[in-house]
Order: sequence, then structure tokens, then C-alpha cells
Amino acid sequence: MGDQMTGNEPHGSNRGPAAFRTLRSWLTHLAETDRLAVAKPGMSLRFEIAALAKRLDGEKATIFMEAAGYEGERHEIPVISGLVSRREWIGEAMGVGPDELLDRYRVAVERPLPWMEVDRDAAPVQQVVRREFDLRTDLPIPMHNEHDSGAYISAGLVIARNPATGIQNVSINRLQISSATRMGVLILPRHLHRFFDAAEKAGEPLHVAVAIGVDPLTLLASQAILPFDTDELEVAGALHGEPLRVVKCVTNQVRVPADAEIVIEGRLLPNVRESEGPFGEFPQYYGPAGNRPVVEVDAITHRTRPLFHTIVPAAMEHLLLGAIPREASIVALLQRSFPNVLDVHLSRGGVCRYHLYVKIRKRWEGEARNIIMGAFAAHADIKQVVVVDEDVDVHDPVAVEWAVATRFQAGTDLVVVPRAQGSKLDPSAQDGICDKMGLDATMPVEREAFRYTVVHVPGEDTVDLAAAISPEGLPPGILDE
Ligand code: MN
Repeated sequence: MGDQMTGNEPHGSNRGPAAFRTLRSWLTHLAETDRLAVAKPGMSLRFEIAALAKRLDGEKATIFMEAAGYEGERHEIPVISGLVSRREWIGEAMGVGPDELLDRYRVAVERPLPWMEVDRDAAPVQQVVRREFDLRTDLPIPMHNEHDSGAYISAGLVIARNPATGIQNVSINRLQISSATRMGVLILPRHLHRFFDAAEKAGEPLHVAVAIGVDPLTLLASQAILPFDTDELEVAGALHGEPLRVVKCVTNQVRVPADAEIVIEGRLLPNVRESEGPFGEFPQYYGPAGNRPVVEVDAITHRTRPLFHTIVPAAMEHLLLGAIPREASIVALLQRSFPNVLDVHLSRGGVCRYHLYVKIRKRWEGEARNIIMGAFAAHADIKQVVVVDEDVDVHDPVAVEWAVATRFQAGTDLVVVPRAQGSKLDPSAQDGICDKMGLDATMPVEREAFRYTVVHVPGEDTVDLAAAISPEGLPPGILDE
């Protein structure tokens, strides 16, 4: 593994490969392993960049040089997309194998590492400070889907401080470019919402910073499911194995990753709402337009030669950044009550949010039903749960379907909970009210052994193809009519 880690100093001596702590070392690694496609100059911000990035989704990250802007301008800042579009890549970025990924993430969430503040001189993200700017033309901000209301920043870590405690929160919020200095923002009722609510009640703006172009582990940390007043940047430090370097913004008190590519500083304005949306979202449908909060931008800071990261909505990068932190939290939560839960997976077909597969070592009848109820309670977005035995690979949808086909009877093994809280972005839900379904696809504990004996050809797993297949191919005459 040693030579795979080029451009990245290992930390610790006997812990295996190190995590990638910088965006540039990760991109270098992708380029060196033939996983970074370089697009020809001049591709348009309007759909073309998203189209190519989506076409290569799951195979290669992309970098776009000299993107063509909406006014015909060419951008010097390259656009990058698809940094972590496969589950194995995320493990690689962490320096662990795919099987250890959830455990590694869970440890980082349980043992966060406080960040370290550095001076402006030591912060690449403040090499250039711009107080005069036009968001519509100065940054290469793509328009992704055909019915999006316009250009959107989709990979911006929105960082804010709790006005009461000063503790920071990080979340990724979609940001619509509304004018030269304004962005519309969707804020779901979570931690940032509470900060803004408190500021707005006091008639004050909420200072925010939007960090664009961070390393994959900081991206992943931003999606950690944490209690209120826990800073996601400390999870990034824990994933890196050393404190994240942060710097104070030039126009406010927010601390941002010092090694980010670009930071947009601004204020969420109290009692101002403007039209935002529609915007193509992770379930592969549009989130509708509405009157939403507004960020007035005060300054943009960036590296001398920055990169602009965009996440194509509903592409694997988008889905996995949500899925991995959720899986880690769900498995931790379930194992507290059910130690025989072995693994969980939020499936691709369930948009990496709605459908959960749970692997258990079954001990008693009825247990799978309790686990189904525990999973419904673990996250409101979960709509369908399938519980399978330990011989079923929860990362293989065909294997899970096989378990449902052969170990499940709807009359006895189905749990339905009507009218529960679900995802508002599920178009079949009514204002976020949805029906939950749980399938117990486990074998009975008391069973006739042969009935559930899975067919197996002796030698099928160990057959030596090189020794078994003739290099000469088909002998002459064998297929003659
Ligand atoms: Mn939070």
C-alpha cells in the first residue's frame, strides 16, 4: 500500500495506510491511479459540466479547466467533481478497508479532536481577499439540472457559531446565486436553523462562512450526526488523526478550514425571505421553490490558484456523503439495544437514505421486529427496513432480494407503520408524512436444516481458471452443422 500514499505523509507508524488530509493530495492520488478525468477547456457551466461529471459518476472524478460562464467569460478557476463517488474510495481516503469504514467513522464521532487556530499568514484560504466581487461571474458556479432555478453552490460547508455558546456547526446547504452579493439558502430544521432562529428573534444577522473545496474527510465530517453544540470540524480532526487547522474569517468570528480552496463570508439576514428553488435533490426529484433565508455576502477569500468543488445532485458523491455518516450512527444506535446486529447498509435504490438493510446473527424469534422498530426510530428518513441473516451480503441488493424471495412471507413477516414522520423530499409522502415498512427476511430459529440448505457446487469458489480453461480455444469441427 505504501506507494499508493504518494503525496501524503503517514501519521503513526503501525496503523496501516494514513488518511488523506488535504484535497490536493487526494486529487493527486486519484490522478496517479487513473481516476481523474481532465475535461477539455471551454465546457459550459450551464449543464455541460454536470453532464460529464454525472456520466463518469462512480468511475472517475473530473476536473474542468477554463469553464465557459453564463456571460461567455472563461474562468481561470478549475471546477472539480466526484471526489468520493465510490464507497471504497471513502475507505481509501480514511486509510482503511471498506469493512472498517463505519467503525473508523464511529470512533471519530465518539472521540472528536478540537481544531487548532492558525494566523492568516499560515492560511492558504486567505492568500487572496476580495471585498469587491460579483458572485454571478467571479466564481465558476454550475447550473446542474434542467429545472434548477439557476446556478447553485452544492458543495459549500456552511459554518456558523451558536450565538449563545460560540460553538460552531457545519452543514452542507444548497446555495442559490440570487444576485452579485446574495445567495438564497435552504435551511432544514436542524442545528443551523436553531442558531438562525435565535439570531432572528434578537433581530440580529447570523454570521456564516461557506467553505468550498475541502478534503474528502472534512466533507464527510460535515455530515456527521451529532448532538447540538458539537462541532463537526472536530470530527474532521479525528478522521485526519490530527487537529484541523482553522483560521478566523476576515469579516467575522467564524473559524474556517485554513486549507480550504475558497471561503465566502456573509450574514444570514434577519426577517428577509426571497424565492429559492426549485433544485434537483438526492431522491432524483426536485425540491420545490419557496421563500427562504438569504445570505448577504461580505467577502470572498481564496488561495492564489483555487479549485471550485461542485457536487452533482443525486450523483454517488452526494448520496455517499449522506449515507456513510448515517450508517455509522444507525449501526451504533442499534447495537446498543441489539448486540447481534452485525452490519447495516443504506441501499443505492433507496437513494442511500430511505431503505436500510440490516444483517443480524439471529438468536430469538421476534427479534427482527424489534430491530425494525429500532431502525425506524433511528432516523426519520428511513422508510423501509429489511432484516437478513448473517450469510446475506447487505451490500449486494441481489442477495437481499434473494433473502426476501426465499425467507419472507408478507402475511406474517411484514411490519407496517402508517402515517409516521418521513422525508419531505419523498414525492409520495404527504408533507413529510409517510408509511414505514419492515420486512423480516430471516430464517426461523427452529427449522428443518435441509429446507434452508443453500446449494453449493463443491469447488466453485476455488476453481483455478488459468488451469481449467484451454488457451487453444475451440477445437476445429466441434460445432459444424
Ligand atoms: Mn451539527
